[in-house]
Amino acid sequence: MPKTDRFRAAIDAAHGKFRKLAEGRNADFIPALAKMDPGLFGIALVTVDGKTEEKGDAGSRFTIQSISKVFTLACALQEVGDEAVLAKIGADATGQAFNSIMAIEQTKGKEMNPFVNPGAIATTSLIKGRTPAEKWKRILGMHEAFAGRKLEVDQEVYRSESATNGRNRAIAVLMHSYGRLYADPLVTTDLYTRQCAISVSASDLAVMSATLANGGKNPVTGKRVIDSKYVPRILAVMATAGLYDDSGLWLYRTGLPAKSGVGGGIIAVAPGRFGIAAFSPRVDAAGNSVRARKAIEYITAALSANPYNTKSL
Ligand code: GLU
Repeated sequence: MPKTDRFRAAIDAAHGKFRKLAEGRNADFIPALAKMDPGLFGIALVTVDGKTEEKGDAGSRFTIQSISKVFTLACALQEVGDEAVLAKIGADATGQAFNSIMAIEQTKGKEMNPFVNPGAIATTSLIKGRTPAEKWKRILGMHEAFAGRKLEVDQEVYRSESATNGRNRAIAVLMHSYGRLYADPLVTTDLYTRQCAISVSASDLAVMSATLANGGKNPVTGKRVIDSKYVPRILAVMATAGLYDDSGLWLYRTGLPAKSGVGGGIIAVAPGRFGIAAFSPRVDAAGNSVRARKAIEYITAALSANPYNTKSL
């Protein structure tokens, strides 16, 4: 079968197989997320040569949530370099929940990674700019360069989370007290909350992950977004801590660097081959979209895309 037909067949099969699955429930710790239609289910795949395959609700908008951590990390790497990110944030799994305060206490804010909230908010604090508006321009600009189009913040989700994000503000202030947050904690938490509320579709996320699969050059726009030397760093953090407490399980099953968000999106990167994204709002106990996860696992197996499986080369 030609390559693109195989992609098409795998996506269609995954969508058909999991279409009726209704396990899990919408995240509700951000009140606006609970209101999303739980029946939505979309899948998109973009190859490193820019070919796109989509199925279901791939054009529906939802908030990027924690998947934004990947692109703000890209921005920080580009601005301060990989050694500074490693020294100031860290690159190890904490063994605790993504928003654990205990994890901060245990290490005095050290040995975090950019995908747990303390490390993610600290990563946002590394973004340069004289004013919050300047910093925001850089953060949003990086997301837009990855997506290849202008993006907007979902104001309802932003307001909803701003009104209920006391825990993230506490995390930021605590990190600051240990000297592990590098700008004003409340301004930084606001920027972080805004980045989580960026509105995207599965199609956008597939282009964004394909840009990582393609060494930092957007395969649709043809524009280089970040220096290729930083891509392996980002993929390493995705492999280590991309799916919350189920990151090990995910890597065991797929071998693919990935990142999920409580908005229901998951991205995964098959380096040198393609980026894939799936979206469905119902999440499991770990916070990962049930259908998105199963769909990507299925497609990875169908396309022999586990990079550790050298037999398939
Ligand atoms: N904005 C959410 C938070 O920081 C993101 C949660 C997530 O997607 O993991 O709590």
